Amino acid sequence: MGIGTKCVQDGYRPGNGEPRQIPIIQSTTFKYDTSQDMGKLFDLEAEGYFYTRLQNPTNDYVAAKIASLEGGTAAMLTSSGQAANFYAVFNIASCGDHVVASSTIYGGTYNLFAVTMKKMGVEFTFVSPHATEEELDAAFQPNTKAVFGETIANPALSVLDIEKFADAAHRHGVPLIVDNTFATPVHCRPIEFGADIVTHSTTKYMDGHGAGVGGCIVDSGKFDWTKYPDKFPGLCEPDDSYHGITYAEKFGLAGAYITKATAQLMRDFGSIQSPQNAFLLNLGLESLHVRIKRHAENGLAVAKFLQGHDKVAWVKYCGLEGDDDYELAQKYLPDGSCGVVSFGVKGGRAAAEDFMQKLKVAAIETHVADARTCCLHPASATHRQMNDEELAAAGVSPDLVRYSCGLEDAEDLIADLKQALE
Ligand SMILES: *Cc1c(COP(=O)(O)O)cnc(C)c1O
Repeated sequence: MGIGTKCVQDGYRPGNGEPRQIPIIQSTTFKYDTSQDMGKLFDLEAEGYFYTRLQNPTNDYVAAKIASLEGGTAAMLTSSGQAANFYAVFNIASCGDHVVASSTIYGGTYNLFAVTMKKMGVEFTFVSPHATEEELDAAFQPNTKAVFGETIANPALSVLDIEKFADAAHRHGVPLIVDNTFATPVHCRPIEFGADIVTHSTTKYMDGHGAGVGGCIVDSGKFDWTKYPDKFPGLCEPDDSYHGITYAEKFGLAGAYITKATAQLMRDFGSIQSPQNAFLLNLGLESLHVRIKRHAENGLAVAKFLQGHDKVAWVKYCGLEGDDDYELAQKYLPDGSCGVVSFGVKGGRAAAEDFMQKLKVAAIETHVADARTCCLHPASATHRQMNDEELAAAGVSPDLVRYSCGLEDAEDLIADLKQALE
């Protein structure tokens, strides 16, 4: 089936006389006839649901759809994109371990890695998304457990050379984790280029309507943990909290990673998506293939307009010919990229603030990838505590405007930008 058919149909197939739309199983718990039946679930000896802190059928229908879209073997929904990236890494890297990550990643993920996970004893080395093979090799340590990057970085909009990063990860016996939020599986499927695990902030294009915060982790089932039992004891050695089962043995490569994340991390941290939000997410997924196409068309039209305007200092959009990432975008995103465009307004910080205030269609919001066009001036919002020097170090210039094209008519977005610039 094509990606569009998967968006509409996969994950949930009702039987005779069952509801056509995914049922919202709004229940904290599930009923059993005997304690023995229940006990088997607690020993991971039988499949089934017992408590929604760990698993819920509505979530699993939607996770199965996303697994199908990404070409993975198993997936889980989380309460946010932050929870997804935390689980994805912490499932295989803990105190005393090390991870290599691209430096141009979402600010929230950077904080999670460089500040919070560092406090938990996980160290990160950040490398340029355009690092050479030699530079990548030099970043690895004997205790490195994973490599992390974003297909299209938020808000730097650089494109990750997935094959190069996957090859480096595999040379050093660790998996590549790719946050595919901005590209979506409609425009790029990182597993096809060698990524082992894919994460999403479903809050963005997958939901697409600004309705629910959520995240997802997909496992390709391709990374062979058992080749490196010393590196990945959590998957290759018995888990005492489940009567000594070994995940890689009992659930195979296809299921070990997600089962471990569910059985240990969801059990202990409980960052599960609510079934209500999973239902809303699925409504978004049903039209993802139609919407992302329009977002990317609007993004390209707006980027081209901005490039030709004399009040605009610079434009960053990987779909623009001549962009630093244009070649990578042609390879990894041949059908289009996304709706987010970054640009600078001549006149710096003050001009950017003044310009944004004059926009009538685009709203000022801490959000991207919504049906409604929105924009943000990081220097006066998410990064406002930084001075101009610190902003430069973070790769955010004082004049940078992050503009997220919604699903409106491109002509209206361009007319709005034009009047505000002028
Ligand atoms: C927004 C975002 C996140 C964090 O997701 P939340 O759903 O806000 O927790 C992670 N990665 C990327 C690329 C994002 O854009």
